Amino acid sequence: MEKKPFVTRQQIEEIAKTYPTPFYLYDERGIRENARAVREAFSWNQGFKEYFAVKATPNPFILKLLREMGCGTDCSSKTELLMSKACGFLGHEIMFSSNDTPAEEFVLADELGAIINLDDFTHIEYVEKTLGKIPETICCRFNPGGMFKVSNDIMDKPGDAKYGMTEEQILEAYRILRRKGAKRFGLHAFLASNTVTNEYYPLLAKVLFELAVKIKGETGVSLSFINLSGGIGVPYRPNEEPNNIRVIGAGVRKVYEEVLVPAGLGDVSIFTELGRFMLAPYGVLVTKAIHEKHTYKEYIGVDACAVNLMRPAMYGAYHHITVLGKENEPCDHMYDVTGSLCENNDKFAIDRLLPEISIGDYLVLHDAGAHGFAMGYNYNGKLKSAELLLKEDGSVALIRRAETPEDYFATFDFCDILKDVR
Ligand SMILES: *Cc1c(COP(=O)(O)O)cnc(C)c1O
Repeated sequence: MEKKPFVTRQQIEEIAKTYPTPFYLYDERGIRENARAVREAFSWNQGFKEYFAVKATPNPFILKLLREMGCGTDCSSKTELLMSKACGFLGHEIMFSSNDTPAEEFVLADELGAIINLDDFTHIEYVEKTLGKIPETICCRFNPGGMFKVSNDIMDKPGDAKYGMTEEQILEAYRILRRKGAKRFGLHAFLASNTVTNEYYPLLAKVLFELAVKIKGETGVSLSFINLSGGIGVPYRPNEEPNNIRVIGAGVRKVYEEVLVPAGLGDVSIFTELGRFMLAPYGVLVTKAIHEKHTYKEYIGVDACAVNLMRPAMYGAYHHITVLGKENEPCDHMYDVTGSLCENNDKFAIDRLLPEISIGDYLVLHDAGAHGFAMGYNYNGKLKSAELLLKEDGSVALIRRAETPEDYFATFDFCDILKDVR
């Protein structure tokens, strides 16, 4: 499928008069439409709720927008919990799926009334000691070990992942948790990331639903909810077939009716914790070509760098690039598109065929709305960009300002030497 940006060159030229590049731009309309589609795909399940994975796009304006669409949040840290609270998420609208969790974070999650998802068997004792009780509602994270194969190209190795409990541990966990006073139980697993196939969720659901039946049989615990977590992917490359959330929802429903309903578990709520699928396609990084360099290769230097979008540098991830205003020109120039870090992996694209780029052209890096800005860092003293929201009425709102040198120096607020640059 061809990738089309949700903005035109003209729009970006207008926006850039107020907000200089680089910046992130999110598409409110796309976010809302997709969130609605997710909700509809699972509307067959009474208690369905999507808990947006905050780590994907931790911005309060985005969180509030998703809350309006009926989503909760999935948090993995203290600051994510605090942001959820500030955005008005209450009690069980917050899921706390964390691992290697510090005690104070369990305390905060409990204070907020969030659903705590235990990553490990030993956390039962840790939570009980920390909180002086076991919460009435509690979730356990499962790791089946071995290999998890969805299709020929999607395979993950849960056995190598640090998350979750073994089957033996999780069965024992439910027995202990019930004995210690827990009343409502959940089951959670995340077995493969960025799956671009409609089969992942139904396959995962089958594993979890069958385990739920076993849990009921062996421990007497009837689960209240099953959390399919994240992992539904997006087609970063133009030739990939996008997931169809309706087909995915129907696939989960089929397994639900085959496995859970006959076992008397027909009232289990389905939860999801999607991040990428909720936001990635609806956010772009906009950057400007500021240099061209001709040495052993052809380079285009842009004003963004890996600090603004780390995925290509970190795992060679592909992000499609559109040169605005040149959408219909032939891609007959091969470039490395680079940022300015003193790191040779600071390249948004390597040997990419693009239209001929001129200095001043705006480049759109697609599918950066999740795990994009969020992974930012400050290497080389580089600063994080602004985030903007393209609203449904066509206006643009600043939803995070760009970092300034003052922000960078703020953690030296006790240091006299830097007082003049602060
Ligand atoms: C990262 C994460 C998610 C979201 O994953 P996506 O791939 O963005 O959908 C959900 N749950 C947990 C526990 C995670 O760590």
